[in-house]
Amino acid sequence: MIKKCEAVARAPLAVRPDTIELPALGESWRIDYLPTNTRRVGVMMEQPGRLTVYGAVADHGACLAVLKRWLKRRTREELVPWLAMLAGQGGFTFNEVLVRGQKTRWASCSSKGTISLSYKLLFLERHLVRYVLLHELCHTVCMNHSPRFWTLLSRYEPECRAIRRRMRGDWRRVPVWVEDTGN
Ligand SMILES: [Zn+2]
Repeated sequence: MIKKCEAVARAPLAVRPDTIELPALGESWRIDYLPTNTRRVGVMMEQPGRLTVYGAVADHGACLAVLKRWLKRRTREELVPWLAMLAGQGGFTFNEVLVRGQKTRWASCSSKGTISLSYKLLFLERHLVRYVLLHELCHTVCMNHSPRFWTLLSRYEPECRAIRRRMRGDWRRVPVWVEDTGN
């Protein structure tokens, strides 16, 4: 498990974003809001880098909810296969992967081998995401943070201790609209 180390104290702000930067994927998205005569709100990937949120877009809360569902989808499309690839390379096995919007963790691994990934990982730099994925895979072998765990993890990421220290302030990279408006 990787804990959030800083309490986030920001005022709730239901403002729709105009762009979404996803360093984990090297992607930058521009968002257009298209009012249409329907009660629901949906999102379309028109072309690479362009998202259209359509429907009852005056409801900012509904727009944010649909964008968070899209972030979960991108996590399932991109980070889950990456986790599976790293597992294959390292000879790790896990049971299943859940994608969630945890408030206090980037990821976790249960004793049953279920790995939970936060879609907020999308806002981290790619090498940090790789570290988090390897960290959880090592928990499938060793559940605690004992010296044995760190020895194992350092075989896959020699800089693991330094990366862990550097990541302490990285919740600031999660945009306010993602962090403060529920999961
Ligand atoms: Zn851990």
